[in-house]
Amino acid sequence: MGRVYNFSAGPAVLPEEVLREAADEMLDYNGTGMSVMEMSHRSKEYQEIIETAEQDLRDLMNIPDNYKVLFLQGGASQQFAAIPMNLMKNKVADYIITGQWAKKAYQEACHYGKANAIASSADKTFSYIPDCSDLPISEDADYVYICENNTIYGTKFKTLPNTKGKTLVADVSSCFLSEPVDVTKYGVIYGGVQKNIGPAGVVIVIIREDLITDDVLPGTPTMLKYKTQADAKSLYNTPPAYGIYICGKVFKWLKKMGGLEVMKQRNEEKATILYDFLDQSELFKGTVVKEDRSLMNVPFVTGNEDLDAKFVKEAKAAGFVNIKGHRTVGGMRASIYNAMPKEGVVKLVEFMKKFEADNK
Ligand SMILES: *Cc1c(COP(=O)(O)O)cnc(C)c1O
Repeated sequence: MGRVYNFSAGPAVLPEEVLREAADEMLDYNGTGMSVMEMSHRSKEYQEIIETAEQDLRDLMNIPDNYKVLFLQGGASQQFAAIPMNLMKNKVADYIITGQWAKKAYQEACHYGKANAIASSADKTFSYIPDCSDLPISEDADYVYICENNTIYGTKFKTLPNTKGKTLVADVSSCFLSEPVDVTKYGVIYGGVQKNIGPAGVVIVIIREDLITDDVLPGTPTMLKYKTQADAKSLYNTPPAYGIYICGKVFKWLKKMGGLEVMKQRNEEKATILYDFLDQSELFKGTVVKEDRSLMNVPFVTGNEDLDAKFVKEAKAAGFVNIKGHRTVGGMRASIYNAMPKEGVVKLVEFMKKFEADNK
């Protein structure tokens, strides 16, 4: 069997070129006679892999020198605790609840201080982004937290919230490297790489230097202190070495593709194909208000659960896999990350048209 079109929300599709290159290097990386998996993380070869990966990411995102880039473990979910532990100096933080991941981060922060839910879109099943232009930001908030792209619900912040001068912290797991960003607007940008960058097991944290201090909450584990990781250049202990190597290859691929401006155009083109179809379809419809639609995760429904199940089953048989919606939402969701070729979206829409005609 050949490759399928994989619409999984994560772990998700990776560029075929990257996988082939990794396969070629599997037994003998660059004349070392061993796989990167077998290599010391203190070796000269590995040093070059991790340093090149960091530099390429810095180039792609135009990361200023006063920001550190950390390659860590524990997934995005561990950052839900690490962020308050490192940043809650006043023990106050404001959270904008736009879905399950933001809610989980908020609930975790509640263990460490006073976390305030200052806005939410729970009233309409997280199908929109609340107006964040004039929120009741707490006077003593250490930071304002958002989940920038909501993987499960398919919404994205198109403008960042007005934090009234407070540090912005953003979980960008599912929109990482999908378009250019202005890093200077954030204190912390972080994400698990398994959505849009690489294999599960790596989380990347981009953090402004002044936020990295020894002044963390009492009891913060050494490993979760950003200072530990920053001082050791992500090599305090054994890093997720192979995962970082694959991330590095994806960064090279992104550079070769033309960088984040080009990725944005490609992603807009792909998403438009799918959304335009949904907007005129008599069977399928999108679940998100138009202005807040994600370019990465596209949820849709037929309005009939049996028909949804039939669609998912027939799509899978036709080579469009992992298109079932999140278990808490139902329906369908097509995740169309950087590595999903336009052809995959075009063919999916053709398939949906045929399904619609057959199920009128
Ligand atoms: C998947 C996801 C997470 C959880 O990531 P883990 O690496 O599994 O902890 C958190 N936030 C967002 C936005 C996600 O999409």
